[in-house]
Amino acid sequence: MIISMEAGASQEQIQAVIGRIQELGYKAHPIIGVERTVIGVVGHLKRPQKELFEVLPGVENVVYISKPFKLVSKELKREPTVIDVEGVKVGGKELVIIAGPCSVESEEQIVTIAKAVRAAGAKMLRGGAYKPRTSPFSFQGLKREGLEMLAAAKRETGLKIVTEVLAIADIDLVCEYADVIQIGARNCQNFPLLEAVGRTSKPVLYKRGMSTTVEEWLQATDYILDGGNGDVILCERGIRTFETATRNTLDVNAVAVVKEASHLPIFVDPSHATGHNHLVTAAARAGVAAGADGLIIEVHHQPEKAWSDGHQSLKPDQFAECIRQVRRVAEAMGRTMG
Ligand code: PEP
Ligand code: MN
Repeated sequence: MIISMEAGASQEQIQAVIGRIQELGYKAHPIIGVERTVIGVVGHLKRPQKELFEVLPGVENVVYISKPFKLVSKELKREPTVIDVEGVKVGGKELVIIAGPCSVESEEQIVTIAKAVRAAGAKMLRGGAYKPRTSPFSFQGLKREGLEMLAAAKRETGLKIVTEVLAIADIDLVCEYADVIQIGARNCQNFPLLEAVGRTSKPVLYKRGMSTTVEEWLQATDYILDGGNGDVILCERGIRTFETATRNTLDVNAVAVVKEASHLPIFVDPSHATGHNHLVTAAARAGVAAGADGLIIEVHHQPEKAWSDGHQSLKPDQFAECIRQVRRVAEAMGRTMG
């Protein structure tokens, strides 16, 4: 339910409405806009009664949210959410590029790649220290040591760090190193993990599950927002279909659907979406043309030796060419690239 306060509503009136919401056992999510404050009302109890709030001083109107997802919905918040990642604005006019290897392998590897992607225009460095691998016998990531290597790459290049967290127990440690914590496709509906990152104040890059509908994904996003963390960057990374020519199928439609339904920024991951380095640039261009706010791309200076996802990683010169092409699409879309 959404309670819209009158443009001139006082702080006392807003607080009184929030108090009443809590008294009735619901949770209040106030959103302070330029013109007016709106308050989202959520809870597991039965649907709140509009009439109880319509009569309160300062309340202009009360409406139910028609969609199954609530806090992520544009019905609640019309203006796009812009997330400040230590000075890099995500979800604004600028198209933001995150790039780096699938996994952190050594300090030399991550620093070499970080320098290359920064030179080509990336603002953030990706690299997994905790890897969700299909087999327990595949490389699982360097964990704490990998995080230390990411910190070294940040010191060298100034790039912001994006790295995945797999388990609740690792959140505190990962948050010490990450500027953005990634929740991967396999954890898209790991609700306790979503709740736990919702209690942090780190921006979250939250990937769609490979078999998750957009509606399920956006409802799951509410777990993060309901915990108090509104800084979520959604990421379409390809879904499972009957097609075998590519690793996954990039659901470009999802970008447009999310843009229409939600105020949150959305990125595209053309690397996991296609699974082949020679297809990444085309998928990247398509993502930006569909309205994505940014891209996350796997880059490796020696892809043939990479410990994970080498086949889909661009070499630094291929990445630079990819960004040159993406830049032209971004400009056509009225976006800037710093
Ligand atoms: C990754 O980013 O390397 C990764 C494992 O991605 P996804 O969760 O999309 O498979
Ligand atoms: Mn990968």
